[in-house]
Amino acid sequence: MPPTDADVLVVGAGVIGLTTAICLAEAGLRVAVGAAEPPRQTTSVAAGALWGPHLVGMDDRVPRWADLTRDRLAELTAPALGSNAVAGIVRTAAGITATAAASAEPPEYAAAGTLTRCEPAEIPDGYATGWRLSAPLIAMPGYLDYLADRLGRAGGSTTFTTRFGALTDAAAFAPAARVIVNCAGYGARDLVGDRDLGAVRGQAVVVRNPGLSEFFVGTGAADWPLTYLFPHDDVVVLGGTEEPGRDDRDPDPVTAQHIIAACAAIRPELGDADVLDHRVGLRPVRPSVRLEAEQAPDGRTVVHNYGHGGAGVTLSWGCAEDAARLVLAALGALG
Ligand SMILES: Cc1cc2nc3c(=O)[nH]c(=O)nc-3n(C[C@H](O)[C@H](O)[C@H](O)COP(=O)(O)OP(=O)(O)OC[C@H]3O[C@@H](n4cnc5c(N)ncnc54)[C@H](O)[C@@H]3O)c2cc1C
Repeated sequence: MPPTDADVLVVGAGVIGLTTAICLAEAGLRVAVGAAEPPRQTTSVAAGALWGPHLVGMDDRVPRWADLTRDRLAELTAPALGSNAVAGIVRTAAGITATAAASAEPPEYAAAGTLTRCEPAEIPDGYATGWRLSAPLIAMPGYLDYLADRLGRAGGSTTFTTRFGALTDAAAFAPAARVIVNCAGYGARDLVGDRDLGAVRGQAVVVRNPGLSEFFVGTGAADWPLTYLFPHDDVVVLGGTEEPGRDDRDPDPVTAQHIIAACAAIRPELGDADVLDHRVGLRPVRPSVRLEAEQAPDGRTVVHNYGHGGAGVTLSWGCAEDAARLVLAALGALG
């Protein structure tokens, strides 16, 4: 693993590391990404991924980051760009979100302004309330490929490294880098010793799409507390679980069976759809997202951008742009 001569090292090749590295590379910096796992093996690939803040420490920055990310996703799909790089990967999807409780309020992740209450006939058994909504829906494997590609086109490099034991190891890998950006997701717990950061494990099953186009998210049902199905072209991502404090990443076959059964209760055709893949990720949850710069003892600047919980895709571009501003300020390159 030869060292890189980049000006900035980004640790992490999930959605947070890649979007941050793109912002830096497109601003003209020489950027290297160093990561223990390639994009398709990260937590990011396990996301469904529906836009909407969920399971993340809420503060005033979160709505701004989410809105900015939604705008960036809309730009990616705007016909005016004449680009079809994300065709079939990022789309505005329609669907239903339902709760078992007879709640007057829609769930936190549902975008205000696009909601209408469901007619009783539209609400599946086991749920009391439902809303129709539309929101950006992202097929993560293809989206991560798109991001890695875009980073390469902007001149950034990506190296799959050993797992850095500490930021000093990262610094040794990038001796010329004056700034290191920590986008290690749950890995930041060990990388920088952050005991406020915990894992909320999530498991999903990928099946062949029997012809669905609308998504469904149901919470609080008696037999399975979180049920979702996200159709992406020829596959559907089925979920899910939220298991705080569990950080193993092997798919559990019994859990997979429960997920399939819960989704088949919503859409029976999913019951015998071919199973194509199992995905497990560790949502990096802390009381609030850590996005700040600090001075390392060796004089470098470390910009932290981690702890996005169940909303990393939703917040990615907003956080990436803020992190890039901190890096540029540290390099004295901010006008
Ligand atoms: C089942 C599931 C469903 C989800 N659904 C959604 C959704 O619908 N919408 C949404 O917005 N979000 C969703 N999320 C949350 C989202 O996936 C995460 O918030 C996001 O992936 C975090 O991205 P990240 O880049 O910070 O971390 P990761 O994707 O985990 O990437 C971390 C990177 O850092 C590297 N790394 C870590 N430690 C080290 C080290 N010491 N040395 C070198 N490299 C290191 C890793 O190898 C990896 O490349 C979901 C998550 C799960 C698990």
